Amino acid sequence: MDSTRVPRIAILGLHLEANAFAPPTVLEDFRRQCLERGAAISALARGGTSHLPMEIPGFYARMDATGPWEAVPLLIAAAPPGGPVAQVVFTGFMDEMQRGLAAALPLDGVYIASHGASSATGDEDSDGTIAAMVRRQVGPAVPVVCSHDLHCNVSEALVRAVDALVVYRTNPHVDMAARAAESADLLRAMLGGMRPHRAFIRLPLTPPSVTLLTAEGPYADLIHDAEVLMRDNPAVLNASVAGGFVFSDLPKCGMTVTITARDAATAEAAAHRLAHRAWAERERYRRPLTPLAEAVAHATAAGRGEAPPVLLADVADNPGGGGRGSTAYLLRALHKAGAQGVVLGVFIDPALAAEAQALGEGAAFEAVFNRVESEFSERFAAPARVLVLRDGRGVGRRGTMAGRRFDLGPSALLELAGSGLRVVVGSLRRQLHEPAMLELHDIDIGAARCVVVKSRGHFRAGFDEYFAGDRIIEVDAPGLTSPVLGNFAWKRLPRPVFPLDEDAVWAR
Ligand SMILES: [Zn+2]
Repeated sequence: MDSTRVPRIAILGLHLEANAFAPPTVLEDFRRQCLERGAAISALARGGTSHLPMEIPGFYARMDATGPWEAVPLLIAAAPPGGPVAQVVFTGFMDEMQRGLAAALPLDGVYIASHGASSATGDEDSDGTIAAMVRRQVGPAVPVVCSHDLHCNVSEALVRAVDALVVYRTNPHVDMAARAAESADLLRAMLGGMRPHRAFIRLPLTPPSVTLLTAEGPYADLIHDAEVLMRDNPAVLNASVAGGFVFSDLPKCGMTVTITARDAATAEAAAHRLAHRAWAERERYRRPLTPLAEAVAHATAAGRGEAPPVLLADVADNPGGGGRGSTAYLLRALHKAGAQGVVLGVFIDPALAAEAQALGEGAAFEAVFNRVESEFSERFAAPARVLVLRDGRGVGRRGTMAGRRFDLGPSALLELAGSGLRVVVGSLRRQLHEPAMLELHDIDIGAARCVVVKSRGHFRAGFDEYFAGDRIIEVDAPGLTSPVLGNFAWKRLPRPVFPLDEDAVWAR
């Protein structure tokens, strides 16, 4: 780099967690969440609350604080977790990013902020494809730093193409901005001439997401080890242990360890240390869920005042993992049991939300959930009343959504007649991980006896002020994101793989 010139850093990213069992993700899904280009990205990143992935403002803030630079933002596309992105959409993004990079040359660095578990209908390694394209465009000498969600499926192609990979270390994810800052620091060091080495190991281990929490458990211990490595050995620049996203159902699935270090030997040694511990403790990645009937019994006991309030997590229908947010197994069972003081959300049903909006607050009607049935989304009907109508827009106040805008689409709070069961119905597929999504509908969470969230784990950072870990029950119900991996017809996963296959082996 010419030292008299301000470094020019390109910024781009694709955020999608692709669930192979969900319908394809289309352009409209990106448009409704985040599809930003060029200078608009800089304005949003520096302008306070926005719908950008949190890495983007985090990266800008750190770069702005650490010296002069010129941001060259190209494209940030983010969609809710869903099926693989339609190939025509992915090709369009690729062309756009490639043309943007070519037009922006010469560049001094690139920051790729991607989720890391995307795939396209015609490309099983879309994240690797993007990274390889970036490398081709900028050449071997320009630093490329990439950050990923910890639910990422890392490919060899990606690790080859980038200089450093930085993966989240918290789940629920509250360190996006911190990891972006770490990426910025690595980029700054490379602008100063540092050239890191990487080591990479993939294990035949695909932990269910419910076992990947970082407050406690086997994954928390691994992350702690990674942080100790970084703290005690200055040659280790970054230690990333990615839990992976098994529902992508791809050969590249599995827990991965990627070390970025000042020398190759340090990188290799650190990667082996972490991988060996993960593999040695693989039995810890089994986790029993609570049967539906037992969970309902807890809810009814809480409703009768015989037990403290309880939170039921419908982990198998998590829109944050590609679920549709519209299974009715818990709703039906709680209704049948006459559970009192229950709030359930967010049930995704645009037709029902629209009908409630048309009827108006106070209207009584026959609420039909899932009038068009699909796999797991069976019809459920009950007399109901419209309590509250909203546009579904708000700003998060805690955990992963703090200070971030959300949009449920037109929404309604319904009360099922003759029961203590209230349901927040939304139009856009979003997981309930933020209390403001309920409070928007005038719900006092502290007064509820039972809260049912369609979320796998991120709700823990949002609802922790009401529910301690021992009052949270992960329910075993059918759904697209069930942690019971034996429930799925896997096609592309590497086999044997633990815990699906007892005979999985790893020898290195
Ligand atoms: Zn994640």
